[in-house]
Amino acid sequence: MERLHNYVAGQWQAGQGDGAVLRDPLSGAALAAVDNTGLDLPAACDWARRTGGAALRALSYAERAALLGRVAEVLQANRDKYYDIALRNSGTVKQDSAVDIEGGIYTLSYYAKLGAGLAERGFRADGPADTLARDGAYQVQHIAVPVRGLALLINAFNFPSWGLWEKAGPALLSGVPIVVKPATATAWLAHAMVADVLAAGVLPAGALTLVCGSSAGLLDALAPGDVLSFTGSSDTAALLRAHPRVARDGVRMNAETDSLNCALLGPDAAEGGAAFDALVREAVREITVKSGQKCTAIRRILVPRAAYARAAEAIAAALADIAVGDPRNPAVRMGSLVSRAQHDDVQAGIQALRAGSEVLFDGGRVQLLDADPAISACVAPWLLGAPDPDAHPLAHDREVFGPLATLMPYRDAGHAYELARRGQGSLVASVYSDDTAFLARSALELADSHGRVHLVSPEAARTHTGHGNVMPQALHGGPGRAGGGEELGGLRALALYHRRAAIQGAPQRLQALA
Ligand code: NAP
Repeated sequence: MERLHNYVAGQWQAGQGDGAVLRDPLSGAALAAVDNTGLDLPAACDWARRTGGAALRALSYAERAALLGRVAEVLQANRDKYYDIALRNSGTVKQDSAVDIEGGIYTLSYYAKLGAGLAERGFRADGPADTLARDGAYQVQHIAVPVRGLALLINAFNFPSWGLWEKAGPALLSGVPIVVKPATATAWLAHAMVADVLAAGVLPAGALTLVCGSSAGLLDALAPGDVLSFTGSSDTAALLRAHPRVARDGVRMNAETDSLNCALLGPDAAEGGAAFDALVREAVREITVKSGQKCTAIRRILVPRAAYARAAEAIAAALADIAVGDPRNPAVRMGSLVSRAQHDDVQAGIQALRAGSEVLFDGGRVQLLDADPAISACVAPWLLGAPDPDAHPLAHDREVFGPLATLMPYRDAGHAYELARRGQGSLVASVYSDDTAFLARSALELADSHGRVHLVSPEAARTHTGHGNVMPQALHGGPGRAGGGEELGGLRALALYHRRAAIQGAPQRLQALA
């Protein structure tokens, strides 16, 4: 079994304990162990801030963008190895591994290209100067400068690659060194990628630190001026928000947490047609891609009452065609959850939501291919129905992080929006309709409670980028329960890693800033 070391203060270091074991979710076989017991985390963070921060800030935005491009090339050159690790440690079919691996590389490449067009060095101007004195002889210029601290990137288990690089891209482009803490269950892939990037020597010393295993002591090592970028459950986010470094010392925290995302079928599509078909296709895809282990996955499907039975039948029929089991079997279209612990958590969630629902597709009756239900972490897809969604509070509240969605009928558009908002703030809602006015109204009704509103009209049915696909061009994050964070969205992502300041002075002096 491989022991995965940590990269701190410029060297690979082993933890002094036994650590946590990473397993193959199909067989339960031990694959690797991670541990960071005994590491001097405050010294590691101090080294990252001083060495990495200074080296990155000495470069222009475009020069740092070029570094991102080289990181992406290193990852591209090693991608076969990453697919093998994902298969063994995450139990995903190739297409699902690609969402994570290619998604990470694409996002990095996107920021490399975007950053190449930035002409600035040292700071970014935030709008034009504004006059303060009546005669214009005294002005204010707002600027954004990279923080002098580090960015601690804590990631969830479901995206060991994308979760890492979608945070690393904007942070490094901003000039901020990163300390990466992958989720333990799937840390192997993040470890392999970081090891390849370090071996290639494309980043300056101190720009990239890796800590695997327990998170104990990591937040204590933060200091004012650092940034904490977290993805995971809202329970863990609540713990981190209460940590004195965040609550008292002002460490800036961005949180991407869980979400009861919805798909909404327009009243015009109740009788079927292209928008209806698009909703069915997307619901099936979202339930099954990565076995539903996506923070953006559709958890609730809202349809006009008249379409409830038709939608139930169509989605269930498509789910019946999905072969589930060991991704090494070429017939399998949906692999495993990441661990037996997730399997047990998802099964408990299904049982909890089942009470008060009707079962429209029973995943419990599906025969797994080459997977032992008593050992593997495979769970087949489920579709539940809540004929009276107002009376099923749990369906709007419990995120079952697996292949399950609940179909809900609505009375009218107002009722549909009310149901969507019962998710208490979500990452994304998608709307399927051929009615321009309904699409526009839905976007405005849902925008304050959803980070992204994804409109699917028949002419976009084949070209739209997918309800659950997070594109770096578009904002990722959501209000309320989804964490209140903002990631990606092009250059908007750089704001987290910059501080804004108002520089006041005489105009001829302010010009010297550039
Ligand atoms: P989690 O249990 O909250 O863990 C997330 C990360 O936090 C892991 O790296 C974990 O490390 C670390 N962690 C746990 N306790 C900590 C503590 N006290 N201090 C510092 N770090 C701590 O979440 P998960 O089970 O990995 O991921 C599933 C959840 O993430 C789901 O709810 C999903 O919706 C959400 N998610 C959200 C997004 C998004 O972009 N909004 C994306 C993906 C996933 P260990 O692994 O070592 O415990």
